[in-house]
Amino acid sequence: EDAEEENVEIMVNHSPKEFVIEDGRVVGMKFDLMEYNVDEQGRIDRGTVTGEKVIPCDDVILAIGQDNAFPWIERDLGIEFDQWECPVVDETTMMCSREGVFFGGDSAFGPKNIIWAVEHGHQAAVSIHKYCHGEDLRDRLPYGLNLYTQKMGMHEWSYSNDYDTSARRLMPHVDLKKRFQKLDIEVELGFSAEQAAEEVERCLNCDIQTVFAAKLCIECDACLDICPVSCLTITQNGDEDDLRTRLKVPAQNLEQALYVSDDLPQTGRVMVKDEDLCVHCGLCAERCPTGAWDMQKSKLLIPYAVDEAAGEVLQTATAGSTS
Ligand code: SF4
Ligand code: SF4
Repeated sequence: EDAEEENVEIMVNHSPKEFVIEDGRVVGMKFDLMEYNVDEQGRIDRGTVTGEKVIPCDDVILAIGQDNAFPWIERDLGIEFDQWECPVVDETTMMCSREGVFFGGDSAFGPKNIIWAVEHGHQAAVSIHKYCHGEDLRDRLPYGLNLYTQKMGMHEWSYSNDYDTSARRLMPHVDLKKRFQKLDIEVELGFSAEQAAEEVERCLNCDIQTVFAAKLCIECDACLDICPVSCLTITQNGDEDDLRTRLKVPAQNLEQALYVSDDLPQTGRVMVKDEDLCVHCGLCAERCPTGAWDMQKSKLLIPYAVDEAAGEVLQTATAGSTS
């Protein structure tokens, strides 16, 4: 987007091959024209060269990319490599085809992000701990989830729980003319403190979940009235296709499962929520007179190597106390 704002023409599937030099000066760049296929896992293949093209120029700016490269691993070590020259790695244990050798991050599964790299490191640490203790690498502690209410008082919540209608603010940029006059200028001007505070209010609070207690609901419809995105419906129960025809607002994303409550005590109908639309504003919980809706913070508990070790200490201690 930002490049297009600067009138940059984007040419896809051109793979740089060599500089074209005349009389000691660059006069062009030679590219292979590429075609790529995507496999069932969504991974792009290495591509096929379909032609060649020279683009005349008087300057070249290099943008550096990265690729996996394991030429230093001998191919007779028992480490299997796939068609992208990445080691074949078990996604649960992070162990490759050679016992006791673990991979993670981009080197294991291709480009992801730093969050995944850290998680792979944690999971590899669990495996290494188990491997060193002669334990089954797949016998891992289960994930857990904690939910705890964010209600602090009648109308007070531990997070900013309102619905904000303000549109996303675009980052202000330096004027195009100034940018070209001074190529090393910082283009993004940043938000003022007030603008940043406004942007923060647009947060969707993804860690705060709506939690519903059907037995407390008196079917007053107050939550349905106040929900700013109309994602709540009280209706007779039915199968999913049938329920979808009776939603207050028809769901656009049919892959997102609906929340369907237990039968409501007054009429036996159910509370249905289209999770795809909910913006976690908390207005339903604030309006509900009986506390049937609550906003609860979710915390995913992922066991790490230290927890595996603690589990063993606990088991040893328990065994010691009963013998
Ligand atoms: S938290 Fe979700 S369901 Fe409740 S009012 Fe806001 S958008 Fe509607
Ligand atoms: S506001 Fe509370 S009591 Fe009223 S319909 Fe919604 S959940 Fe039920």
